[in-house]
Amino acid sequence: MLVTMKEMLAHAKKNKYAIPAFDISNYEMMRAVLDVCEEERSPALLMGLGVDLSGKGLPLISSMVRAASEFYTVPVCFHLDHATDLASVKAALDAGFSSVMYDGSTLPFEENARMTAEVVKLAHAKGATVEAELGHVGNAMVGNENDSTENEDPEDTLTLPDEVVKFVEITDVDALAVAIGTAHGVYKKTPTLRIDRLDEITAVCDRPLVLHGGSGTPDEQMQQAIAHGITKINIYSDVVGALNTGLKNKLATIKNPSTWPVFVFEEARERMKAAIREKIRVFGSNERV
Ligand SMILES: [Zn+2]
Repeated sequence: MLVTMKEMLAHAKKNKYAIPAFDISNYEMMRAVLDVCEEERSPALLMGLGVDLSGKGLPLISSMVRAASEFYTVPVCFHLDHATDLASVKAALDAGFSSVMYDGSTLPFEENARMTAEVVKLAHAKGATVEAELGHVGNAMVGNENDSTENEDPEDTLTLPDEVVKFVEITDVDALAVAIGTAHGVYKKTPTLRIDRLDEITAVCDRPLVLHGGSGTPDEQMQQAIAHGITKINIYSDVVGALNTGLKNKLATIKNPSTWPVFVFEEARERMKAAIREKIRVFGSNERV
């Protein structure tokens, strides 16, 4: 069944674990996440993102996840990742997403707060929950194969605790993504999380906190972040990397061009499932349902 992110994160916060949130781009990724969550008895937090949602992508992926959720006994949430405009938020809510992220983190504080408040009104009216971002989680290397942007210096864009208090007051947002030293994509150098800053934020904020850029961050650092108040960690690169490596390996061994996709995806599926299982166990969301 489909649930909101609010109830999932409330349980995680209370019991001091984090739920890995997986962006899924297609059926194979969705299937791998749901199957492993069922095996591990972990809440399943799936997200839709960017180009995957263009055109009919949005209603089709949403329909697929909602229909699939009926075949699993663990709770499933489908969350819109990184929307930057109201139109995509509305489209996602209409298509049945149970949660949305509005990302106004590159806007000035007031504008981010004003827009987030608007999204919260829209989403709450439909029984959906909202994540926003304060401070800015930049990009390491993500997405297309020619993108080789250097790591930004995350120090400039860390979340400020005073702003968190004001932001929650203005917006009544359900969950907040904070910038404490991670980046999106594949790291060129290992990040060092600012646990001290996280402590300052949890001291003044009662909402569940979210960490973006979880792929490639060392396990001990993520477990430390969880112990200090992070309840949702976004994962994309690690799983899509497993998918692509598995496909590449398997295709190199296949002679028959009309081999069934179910065999072509064999190694990709195994690698994705292993990556997903590892995150679930490291974050402690296994055996929670
Ligand atoms: Zn993100």
